[in-house]
Amino acid sequence: MAKNKKIIYLDYAATTPIDSKVLKEILPYLKQEYGNPSSIYNYGQKAQEAIDKARGNVGDFLNCSPSEIIFTGSATEANNLAIFGTVRAWQKRGKKPHIIISQIEHHAVLEPCKTLEKEGVEVSYLPVNKEGLISVSDLKGAIKENTVLVSIMYANNEIGTIQPIAEIGKLLKKFKILFHTDAVQAVNYLNCDVQKLGVDLFTISGHKIYGPKGIGALYVKKGTEILPIIYGGGQEEGIRSGTENVAGIVGLGAALVEVKLRQAEVKDLEKLRNELIDGILKNIPDVKLNGSQEHRLPNNTNFTVRGAEGESMVIALDGEGIAASTGSACSSRSLEPSHVLLALGLSKEEAHCSLRLTLGRYTTEDEINQVLKVLPSIVNRLRQISGIK
Ligand SMILES: *Cc1c(COP(=O)(O)O)cnc(C)c1O
Repeated sequence: MAKNKKIIYLDYAATTPIDSKVLKEILPYLKQEYGNPSSIYNYGQKAQEAIDKARGNVGDFLNCSPSEIIFTGSATEANNLAIFGTVRAWQKRGKKPHIIISQIEHHAVLEPCKTLEKEGVEVSYLPVNKEGLISVSDLKGAIKENTVLVSIMYANNEIGTIQPIAEIGKLLKKFKILFHTDAVQAVNYLNCDVQKLGVDLFTISGHKIYGPKGIGALYVKKGTEILPIIYGGGQEEGIRSGTENVAGIVGLGAALVEVKLRQAEVKDLEKLRNELIDGILKNIPDVKLNGSQEHRLPNNTNFTVRGAEGESMVIALDGEGIAASTGSACSSRSLEPSHVLLALGLSKEEAHCSLRLTLGRYTTEDEINQVLKVLPSIVNRLRQISGIK
């Protein structure tokens, strides 16, 4: 990265900087308020009260009872708990379970399902259309007599496509099937009323919403049969043992309060996002926007740039002090093309020539203009190297 230059951060889908108000609320629990919430003396009880308050914040945000919230060590863990926890509970009754997910789920949903598949659990992977949307009638057609769980992400982390969660919730009400959604990318921008959405399980993460890393939560609707995946001292209603990450929990609660207060900013973000999309499509030939125009997160852009390798664009942008991504942060260390882009129908080559720029709370017009200024020549140079003009 260029020296002495402020970085232009355009990778908010990978993680977000911590909000200063959130940080201020967390700090006491990393310093003087170090009591164990399970201890009965006053010092421990102060930590317990802080957890109770945060649980209340999460309950308010999701429109559910605080007792329906299980704090976890990450959204990855919350997804694992939702999937293994419900499937294990069903298996206890001696039945062979069937799960339905989409082909474009995050690895934190895909991998638990693949692991269960190896154990003999049936998994159906729903295809998506060119925009990344599943079809609700496909979903209906995939339901079997032994379907336990449907897990469809609220919004995709690579292409920003928003799935019709409320519509799926309504369909599944007619069957006795549990409905989980990984809502990690949705929380900043979309309605998260779990009653309106008709979900039984709902995953959120701290570090995607200007809160700390290493904290997640799972909403588990009252009455849902679920077994723990971590056993120990019985914290979190026995569903998630381990001494609570008090600072993380406080941070997650505080971050959700901020999300609610900042809803008015979403329109401005969308405007900046559209400027970036229009600018790139206009100034660089042979570029395609991946995903949906209409059903898209207000902060997401994802392009296929013919003849320019994704990794090379990211490295060149880094040289200009711009933080970008080829797709999901988790898979960027592997050279496998994105499973999400392949599911849209892109070729391996197209998937390798993709660039994701995701905006956030601190993105400015100047930053967008800077990207529009440097990206065309970067692409030109890379195309010349690859022999495509
Ligand atoms: C980031 C992300 C996760 C993983 O969240 P962690 O808290 O980092 O484990 C899961 N699902 C989606 C859609 C994500 O974007």
